[in-house]
Amino acid sequence: MQANGSTRTPKDAYQTEMTMPPAEQTQQDDVRAQVMAQAQAIAGEPPTPQLRSIVCPYCGSVTPDSGRCGHCGGRFDPLSRQATQNQMGPWEIRDQRVPFRPGCSYATLTRLIEQGVLTGDAVLRGPSTRQFWMLAKHTPGVAHKLGVCHNCQAQVKPDAFSCPSCEASFEVERDRQHLGLGPARPLPGQGLPEVLALHAEPASVKHDQHIASTAIASPEPMHSGNGSASAKSGAMDDDSRRMLDDANRLVRQWRNRANNDRQHAWAVMIIASCIAIAALAYAYWASGAENSPETASTPAVASE
Ligand SMILES: [Zn+2]
Ligand SMILES: [Zn+2]
Repeated sequence: MQANGSTRTPKDAYQTEMTMPPAEQTQQDDVRAQVMAQAQAIAGEPPTPQLRSIVCPYCGSVTPDSGRCGHCGGRFDPLSRQATQNQMGPWEIRDQRVPFRPGCSYATLTRLIEQGVLTGDAVLRGPSTRQFWMLAKHTPGVAHKLGVCHNCQAQVKPDAFSCPSCEASFEVERDRQHLGLGPARPLPGQGLPEVLALHAEPASVKHDQHIASTAIASPEPMHSGNGSASAKSGAMDDDSRRMLDDANRLVRQWRNRANNDRQHAWAVMIIASCIAIAALAYAYWASGAENSPETASTPAVASE
């Protein structure tokens, strides 16, 4: 329940004792005790209040709602929440003592480096690592703050924009909302999402969990004891892969055809409108030629 080893400082200002003459206070206490005794005779023992448990917004542990987390020591008041929110960002520093803390912003990261908390051997991830874990001294945009080039490990100034020896750029995405993920690309043998969705099992059908998980991960056939079964499933895997590839190709063809049709339709519409404009112009001109110039407009409208 209590904070791990750390002593709780009574920083919160407790209510100071009410200053009251002693005689008056004892009299009041007597009265209170009498009333309490009467109430207990009627209603029984008063319930002992118990703190409800909440999930700590900073570390996720379940802790009594005493205003402060028993595990990470974070306070739950709105100002503390806002202060933590302000420091949040797409950078994670690997630390097994606090594995569940939120990611931090680039500004927080540089502050930790300036304070000497973060060294070159710290493991972190962020927008410049595409969220893959990496040593700080190899991380673009971070290593130079530690005095080394992320690319060639040459000594550089922390405020340099690029490396003087290998010319690697030290630019980094500072937007705290930007994760820096690379584009999602289809893997070999993986179909388009729509094709996979077509071949996916309906969500309502309750299959064996084991089957569902092997269908996604599919490392099971390799280890299943029955050789023929594994061969069979491998063949089925190949078959389904081929089917998926075929379906992929079909979808691509349909898309291309739809695109061509759309372009064709546009061309036809443009040509048709050109012809219509030409016809109108001709009709206008012809009626204008028949009639006198001052009454040209009236029959032109009427002729439509
Ligand atoms: Zn906590
Ligand atoms: Zn360099």
